[in-house]
Amino acid sequence: RYFFGGGGTTPLSQSKSTSSSSSVGLYSLEGLHQPSDFIQLSKQAMHQCDTLRSYLYSITTANSDNGDIIHPVEILHSLDDISNIVCSVIDAAELCRSTHASSAWRNAASESFRILSDYISQLNSDVSLYSALQIVVKSKDTLTSEEWRMASSLKAEFERDGIHLPQDQRQHVRMLSNNVVSLETLFMENVTKGDCGTKNVTLKKDDVTQIIPLHYLPPTSPDEGSTISISTDESTILNTLLRHSHDPKLRKDVYMEYNKSIASNLDVLHALITARHELSTELGFTCYAHRFLQDKMVGGDSKQVNIFLQNLLKRGDEMYRREMEMILRVKKQVEGASGSDYNVVEAWDVPFYTNLIKSHQALQQQQQHGGGNGMHLSDLQFNLEKLVQKGMTKLVENLFGIHMVEVEMSPYERWDIEHAGTDDESNHGGKNGDGVRKFEFHHDEEGPLGTMYLDLHPRRGKYVHAAHFTIRCGCKPRPQFSSENKKKQHQLPIVALVCNLASRSDDINTGGAILSHGEVETLLHEFGHALHSLLSRTSFQHLSGTRAPIDFVETPSHFMEHFAWEPQFLRLIAPSSMLLDEGILSTLVSTRYAFRGIDVRTQILYALFDQALFGTFYPHGQQQQQQNPSLFHSTQFFALLHQQHNVPYAEGTHWHTRFGHLVTYGAGYYGYLYSQVFALDIWKTRFAVATSDVVAGDDDKHDDVMSRREGTRLWKDMLIHGGGKDPNVMLRDVLGRAPNVDTFFDRA
Ligand SMILES: [Zn+2]
Repeated sequence: RYFFGGGGTTPLSQSKSTSSSSSVGLYSLEGLHQPSDFIQLSKQAMHQCDTLRSYLYSITTANSDNGDIIHPVEILHSLDDISNIVCSVIDAAELCRSTHASSAWRNAASESFRILSDYISQLNSDVSLYSALQIVVKSKDTLTSEEWRMASSLKAEFERDGIHLPQDQRQHVRMLSNNVVSLETLFMENVTKGDCGTKNVTLKKDDVTQIIPLHYLPPTSPDEGSTISISTDESTILNTLLRHSHDPKLRKDVYMEYNKSIASNLDVLHALITARHELSTELGFTCYAHRFLQDKMVGGDSKQVNIFLQNLLKRGDEMYRREMEMILRVKKQVEGASGSDYNVVEAWDVPFYTNLIKSHQALQQQQQHGGGNGMHLSDLQFNLEKLVQKGMTKLVENLFGIHMVEVEMSPYERWDIEHAGTDDESNHGGKNGDGVRKFEFHHDEEGPLGTMYLDLHPRRGKYVHAAHFTIRCGCKPRPQFSSENKKKQHQLPIVALVCNLASRSDDINTGGAILSHGEVETLLHEFGHALHSLLSRTSFQHLSGTRAPIDFVETPSHFMEHFAWEPQFLRLIAPSSMLLDEGILSTLVSTRYAFRGIDVRTQILYALFDQALFGTFYPHGQQQQQQNPSLFHSTQFFALLHQQHNVPYAEGTHWHTRFGHLVTYGAGYYGYLYSQVFALDIWKTRFAVATSDVVAGDDDKHDDVMSRREGTRLWKDMLIHGGGKDPNVMLRDVLGRAPNVDTFFDRA
């Protein structure tokens, strides 16, 4: 779903108080009190949209007959209203079906999601909406740049499915598009299912149990005396063995079997490449990448993606070589001259030796720093309450002057109890226990900014990854027009930050939930997305916060991760025992960029692979048209890319049959690195105390990583615009120049 997909509201308005008034329903939305309300609200939303559609239909016909009757900008806002009405329900449904404690709620939300997804496809192919948009597009000269961005992004989204084509061609496009979707679904299903236990690695039992105690192994592993068979679907176990086993033979066996699994996806992928290519050329694009990239930062130009990736390759080359040489040196020391692969780093060596060297380096660092009270990196724990109260709260206050205040919730608005609003709270740890929490954001001049819920602990039936969900997008009040004013007040965003922390708040032994350093980093990442939503002030909800191009949208979240590596910030959230040991913080920070060369090289390789599969570009810049994409064999090409970039590869393996991003990002995987580069550039140029004065010049000196001046700049030049402004311009404004990869590999 694109045009009308992903964030908003209208029939559901925000409650004015936080009291337990009976009108406040789930997520503090009105009209959402019981599971069946989801269906009711979906019907209402569709009815409201249909009214707006006929209104738009009548005015567009009137416009063509009698000249200018309706203001083009009003058409644009009506289109945004339609999107807003649908998104307000479907986004709430998306969060509910992924996280609600009650299966009745989850089922109703899934049903609502299905109904509205179908309705969205109808909207995306509504020719009269498209003609209404054409009136706006024709008056480009009278539009503000944000209005034009809205109009052109809607146009691109409409045309992605061929609405501008003649009727019979449109039908053909629909058929091709359905084919693409079913292949995408099949690929993802195969990734999730794995080989359904049909493929095993057989290993010596003693070798395995040295690393993983028998009782941690799945009970289904057939026990055959001195050997044991482990299913290739057991990713965690196999990857643990790859990282920790000193036996090269075992690592090789595990690596080969694991990376030859899900072979069924090879055919699916090849069919998908062909199907996407056919669909895109039918729509008039040169290839799928061209279609995908047109409304991204690179503006449809895969050459730019390639230049970026090649630049990054060059910058990181020396670091990559040094790291690989180090691995080879250590491998020779550890394995001696006995192995046949003595002089090369094999694919199954990389996870093991990087892990070994990292632990060794951390230990050395620790000894250098004196080791204080003898703490080790693995002992590092942070306190959730400190992260929320002293970390996040302080961060938004210092950076932006924003107050983040925890407020009470009505029992009706929470989703961590099976029967909200009743006494049955069996599913969580009491009223202030492990459940959902609610925070309001407020700025002295800007006024209220929105609401963030935190839902951080695992629950039966809950989404297992970390994510930021938009429940409602924000947008500015709608400008006055002659007709009825739909949005008189600022629509404030409501977001939810969802995680599954291993430790619980009611754990008496630890005095509250404790976090690993990785969990701190993850929470800050998602908090970055939440702030993007909460701090944006766009005229259209369709352009609010995170609804920005995907090659830019990870910039604020990657940016926030940097605080997890900043001693000044870590001291705020560290347990007091750690504060006594300065060495441990320095050790932690020094491990951050270990094997960065290898990590980034791997990501570049995957991004190049993704571009090549769905585009017309092959590595080293030579342009080749894919005459017949079905002749293109992905495994051979995967091997070739490894060879060209000196990355170890094992003959016949096809890790990419597990690479779900080929489906979800197809031709957009580079966006992950793209955003990382921007985030680090902003961090080094504007925030990092060590470099900001050097890079930004004397006038810009400061000694505070949470500098209000730089925070305000980030807000007013970037976050406030959400997706309403060209990210290239926003980045230039924040940095004072175009972003670049020059210092990406420098340690600072
Ligand atoms: Zn993210």
